[in-house]
Amino acid sequence: MSVKVSISDCFDGGNIKFIRREQNEQDADTVDIILHIKPDVYTVLEKIGHMQYFSFRSTISGLDGSQKVRYVLENAEAVSYPDAWPGTTICYSTNVEDSDSWKRNLDTYYMAGKLQWEHVHEKNGSTFFSYFPPYSYGRHLNLVSKCGDYANVESVGQTVDGREIELVTVGEGKLTCWITHRQHPGETMAEYYAEGVLTRLLGLDTEGKVDEQVQRILSLYTFYIVPCMCLDGVVRGHLRTNGCGANLNREWTTKRFYEAPTLERSPEVYHVLNKMDETGVDCFLDIHGDEELPFNFLSGAELVPNWDKRMESLHGAFAAAYARANSDMQTKYGYPPADTRERVLEYMNVATNQVANRFNCLGLTLEMPFKDCLTNKDPERGWSPKRSRELGASVLAPLEYIHPYLRAEGEFWTSLPASDAYVPPTNDYKAELKDNKEFVPLKKRFYSDVYELRKPKEDN
Ligand SMILES: [Zn+2]
Repeated sequence: MSVKVSISDCFDGGNIKFIRREQNEQDADTVDIILHIKPDVYTVLEKIGHMQYFSFRSTISGLDGSQKVRYVLENAEAVSYPDAWPGTTICYSTNVEDSDSWKRNLDTYYMAGKLQWEHVHEKNGSTFFSYFPPYSYGRHLNLVSKCGDYANVESVGQTVDGREIELVTVGEGKLTCWITHRQHPGETMAEYYAEGVLTRLLGLDTEGKVDEQVQRILSLYTFYIVPCMCLDGVVRGHLRTNGCGANLNREWTTKRFYEAPTLERSPEVYHVLNKMDETGVDCFLDIHGDEELPFNFLSGAELVPNWDKRMESLHGAFAAAYARANSDMQTKYGYPPADTRERVLEYMNVATNQVANRFNCLGLTLEMPFKDCLTNKDPERGWSPKRSRELGASVLAPLEYIHPYLRAEGEFWTSLPASDAYVPPTNDYKAELKDNKEFVPLKKRFYSDVYELRKPKEDN
């Protein structure tokens, strides 16, 4: 058969390297396409070339009938979080521009260090495959352009590669709420979340008309929203770093001899933190995606120097209100809290820790899954752009609920219901898995972001 399979990542946010084509050993009708994920620019602080995000286009020609192709990511074991692969289902679509067209390949499997899946191509033309539906720089520019019709959009500075770092400001309230998205560019769900927040706050799809809750929120808060922190990484198809290899979520303060943030290495954080110092912060949300856990969850600033009953109560009440507002959020599963204050001091370069402590305010990292969301399963689509947008739109409910307490004097928590109490999350979700054949429990847990600070301390 003379079917041609051509692989390309040369589009906004693409990432893959074609290695070779082979005849499948078991099946004469299947062609194997062997691929490698490309690493980000090397990260000096963590001494690693991060990688895991991939997104590519496969173009078929010369087809008479159908062609089964097995795609093999041969270097999957060498990624930043290999233990996240079991339970992963990759996304595919024939229309890269339509964020709601993506479906999951339910037969994705991880074996012998390789991530693999088979796809039957029924006709000539292109199919896109991606770790999570991509969110392109073009889509980002479209979003900030629409925001400009209803809010102040300014550039706070430029990235290493020279892109504008946009800040959207809206609202007249006394309380200052900062929301940053996509410090890690491969966590594309984070910018779909931003789209959800901004669409609702600004009425982007209703010609600027907003609902009553939004009107109340805009009188309580002034919002400072960064839809995308790591624009260079977006275009380059990176997992975690900017144009010169900086993991932005480790750049929020100097760590030992590693100075941060700096204009040369991490202007994205440098400019945003400067602006925060100007405006002050009463509430901070940092939006991410987690490769491993099949849940949405919040991770706080537990045990930073300013952490006390007040901060703990704000965290608990916000998380409980969010879970009441949207059943895709839950409070039981997540990163277990840190066990010592000494350990946390080593991670003050993480945005949530730095901002919560610096401004003595509520600070939360929000994580969404790359996989399916086990609290409301949808194997066909998994966690999706649509539900990421909806989770963003519904954040206004916990923000409204928490506002009287953010800067309250005295022991406000004594008047809150018991259901608002802070619950330390657990990482043991095996009970949830019993009815979920598509998820394989792992012996070893490994987390994409700040979990490393909650592990028992190792000498190194
Ligand atoms: Zn992240």
